[in-house]
Amino acid sequence: MKFQIDHDYHIHSNLSPCAKDPEQTPQGILRYAEKNGLKQICLTDHFWDTAVTPALGYLSGTYRNNDLACIRSALPLPQSERTAFHFGCEGEMDLSFQIGISPAVIKQMEFVIIPTTHLHMPKLTVPEELTLEQRAILYVHRLNALLEADLPAGKTGIAHLTCSLMAPKNWPDHLRVLEMIPDTVLTHLFRKVRERDFGVELNFPVERYSPEELQTVLRPYFIAKECGCRFYLGSDAHTQKECEGAPERFERMVDSLDLTEENKYRPFT
Ligand SMILES: [Zn+2]
Ligand SMILES: [Zn+2]
Repeated sequence: MKFQIDHDYHIHSNLSPCAKDPEQTPQGILRYAEKNGLKQICLTDHFWDTAVTPALGYLSGTYRNNDLACIRSALPLPQSERTAFHFGCEGEMDLSFQIGISPAVIKQMEFVIIPTTHLHMPKLTVPEELTLEQRAILYVHRLNALLEADLPAGKTGIAHLTCSLMAPKNWPDHLRVLEMIPDTVLTHLFRKVRERDFGVELNFPVERYSPEELQTVLRPYFIAKECGCRFYLGSDAHTQKECEGAPERFERMVDSLDLTEENKYRPFT
């Protein structure tokens, strides 16, 4: 059976400092889910746990003032008969490959997603200047570090693995970085993803790529599929407008990878 579009496990509310839409509230998000027949959704606001000292010694931008009390202020999440609304977060990995969520706080989350491709935050996640070759090496090291981290099997998602933030200066740069990582290395990493029972997030702007570019973006996901990894959908919506565009993008991603229900990651069942 074809992979059903019935969930979204990467959604921000306007508690995330980068989400400024006043309508992007838990209620607004639940309405989006109900309208589109999503049975399970998860709130994943940006979060750094103050119990973990970042390598930089202080936090900046997105992670300043986004502590546990802030993201928990969304609770209790509204529920409906058709949609279960779960509570999680989008954590972070810093420059020293440290994950910014303490074990005690992980236990309070129904689902945790960690990005390895937020390479747009100088000093917090990356050194000031890096070549594309260095970014490709860092991509591999960060993903490998995530796969060694103390995170729960069946409840951990790897966010936007092909995100353009890995090389944010010029749009095509992230494609060049992805091309530099050999199949053998990706195979090694995705076998580990399968072993750890982490989920692979489907979250890329499929409509923005030319057919050739799309092949570059799809290659890691095809290798993940080959390795037996399982996938979940993440809109990464920060606004109601982004929510609206999500279902069509979900369909196109699932079709491009020819996924079935057996390929689905199920953190809530
Ligand atoms: Zn992210
Ligand atoms: Zn996000």
